[in-house]
Amino acid sequence: MTIENLKPEEARTLHRDTLAVRLAMEPSQYGENSEALFLTSGYVQSSAASSAARFAMEEEGFTYSRVGNPTVSSMEMRLAALEGTQAAVATSTGMAAILLLGMGLLRAGDHVVCSRSVFGSVIPLFSREFAKFGVETTFVAQTDVAAWKAAVQPNTKLLFAETPTNPLTEVCDIQALADIAHGAGAFLAVDNCFATPVLQRPVELGADFIIHSGTKFLDGQGRVMAGAICCTQKHRDEVFLPILRTAGMVLAPFNAWVILKGMETLALRVKAQSENALALAKWLEAQPQVARVFYPGLASHPQHALAMRQQGGCGGSVLSFEVRASDPEQARKRAFHVLDSMQLLSLCTNLGDTKTLLSHPASTSHGRLSEDQRLAAGISQGLIRVSVGLENIHDISADLSRGLNTL
Ligand SMILES: *Cc1c(COP(=O)(O)O)cnc(C)c1O
Repeated sequence: MTIENLKPEEARTLHRDTLAVRLAMEPSQYGENSEALFLTSGYVQSSAASSAARFAMEEEGFTYSRVGNPTVSSMEMRLAALEGTQAAVATSTGMAAILLLGMGLLRAGDHVVCSRSVFGSVIPLFSREFAKFGVETTFVAQTDVAAWKAAVQPNTKLLFAETPTNPLTEVCDIQALADIAHGAGAFLAVDNCFATPVLQRPVELGADFIIHSGTKFLDGQGRVMAGAICCTQKHRDEVFLPILRTAGMVLAPFNAWVILKGMETLALRVKAQSENALALAKWLEAQPQVARVFYPGLASHPQHALAMRQQGGCGGSVLSFEVRASDPEQARKRAFHVLDSMQLLSLCTNLGDTKTLLSHPASTSHGRLSEDQRLAAGISQGLIRVSVGLENIHDISADLSRGLNTL
């Protein structure tokens, strides 16, 4: 018996490592061992009556890939199994997943409470785009539970958090935020992109919706863009799918297939990259040219204890550090010097890749903020973000030494 013959309830009794490589739609009549890529827009119908029943959602079956695709369904099933939710709905990008979440849950007159430290594009999505449709958003400090609570209004429908955050790795207490949301009759959505379900499963801590940018760790090799919302079957079928079918920000089958195969090695990659990140964080903390290291796995991190409890004792594989400097201008010059001295590692704003990627947040992801807004967000000119990959740790630190040693 193969897992494809197991009922979903039976499959759920298997361990996550097993589901990560096994759970998918049934193989085709050819019995392929690696899941097929169904690169098709349409599906031939066996009869006009069956076609009509499928379009009316009375009969299961595929009709058109904006409505559903077997490779995309496989990816959704596998991700839901890893997150521990009943279902998942895949989208073209991580930002499309957050757009779909808002379109599904919010209407004019509703209010959102959102962390101030969320991924850069999320802030204008809520404050500018959703505002056009009469949704108001209050932004609060990521780690200040009292501020989240104080921001809740009678019309609050959604609390939106991300943990750890980009690039300062601030950690929020998911359970505390879930309690605040549910006490107010609202939902909690958590962007789990940085920790991945390998380290943290927000649904077990009370979150209602889990957001993913599959572009990052789920793919893990920097190839395709993808996103997803993990949720209940009811939310998927009754709230999100009707919008997705209509609005069309669906995941392409090829991208779904890459993510599906990426998830098979997710746990191994995340664990190995996190081990490298911890070693690199400790090494950076010992360098005289480094003023500060931001990494939840270090005892010096303000939310270290919470992170260890919430993330299975692991800090993840993204860290940031500040080069030592006397003023912002010198700090920027020095950060640029470290980045331009690298011969091995990549200067690249993506993250979650098997290759180590570095970026300068103040001139890239946070480049459109004023200097005051940037400093309020804690993004100094000397800050460098590192998404730690799978290279040997000695080669990673040696490449960073080139610039640090010649400051
Ligand atoms: C990259 C990212 C997103 C957006 O995902 P895209 O796939 O780039 O649209 C959302 N949240 C976090 C935490 C991210 O890192």
